[in-house]
Amino acid sequence: MAAKYDLHVHTTASDGSETPAQVVARAKSLGLAGIAITDHDTVAGLDEGLAAAQRERLAVLPGVEISTEAEDREIHILGYLFDPNHPNLLATLQWLKEKRLERVAEMVRRLRHLGLPVTLEQVVARVRVAAGRPHVAQALVEAGVVSSIEEAFQCFLGRGRPAYVPRASFAPTEAVKAIRQAGGVPVLAHPGLNQAEKFLPELLAAGLLGIEVEYPEHSPEQRAYYRKLAASFNLIATGGSDYHGPHYRHPLGTAVVTEEVVRALERAARWSQS
Ligand SMILES: [Zn+2]
Ligand SMILES: [Zn+2]
Repeated sequence: MAAKYDLHVHTTASDGSETPAQVVARAKSLGLAGIAITDHDTVAGLDEGLAAAQRERLAVLPGVEISTEAEDREIHILGYLFDPNHPNLLATLQWLKEKRLERVAEMVRRLRHLGLPVTLEQVVARVRVAAGRPHVAQALVEAGVVSSIEEAFQCFLGRGRPAYVPRASFAPTEAVKAIRQAGGVPVLAHPGLNQAEKFLPELLAAGLLGIEVEYPEHSPEQRAYYRKLAASFNLIATGGSDYHGPHYRHPLGTAVVTEEVVRALERAARWSQS
């Protein structure tokens, strides 16, 4: 049986429900040859994951999934095999975190200005990774201001509503460059979720090296289409399950790639920075 790698995995370092060590153990028990830990906007889970990988004799690739925005669309850029201690990359991730907190604080300020009983402490208390509108919405539900998250968006937090604050925008090309600078391989994540391939020309110009083809929510037609796109632009066709925990939609290992893809990522990482 060919070695299988799941290259898109979240842990408790972002919004996954299993620790890096638990995910590594699960991958081992499933017979996977390796995984990439790709938490949202953080590399905090990598040390634990890499240590567990050594114990379990499983390949663990350092990774990250950076959230960016382009033309009102949320675009995710995966990064692989970068230097996890690269100062610029760490500064970028820290900046993103601060911008998110500032945005939430501004929303809370506006809600309080409307006389609503929400505090920043209340909101921040529920944030595990990236602070965002859902956390503010939850606080509004808990305060009894609205009866659902949906209503919170409709009345206050949605675009054009009184407490709406746009995201500080971080372009996908910036994420691509930050990953390249840290010696890593930038990959466009799950393009099929929002036709993100529209941005390929600028992403290629910025240094994109891969595109996620194998993905649980990509149809067979989409996979064929993105595989072709990858071939025509000389991009590495990656894949992974976007695992978030055992109770999440897609079990670990539901989308995998072969060893060949991992070797291609390693080769790309070797000349990435140059
Ligand atoms: Zn994503
Ligand atoms: Zn993901």
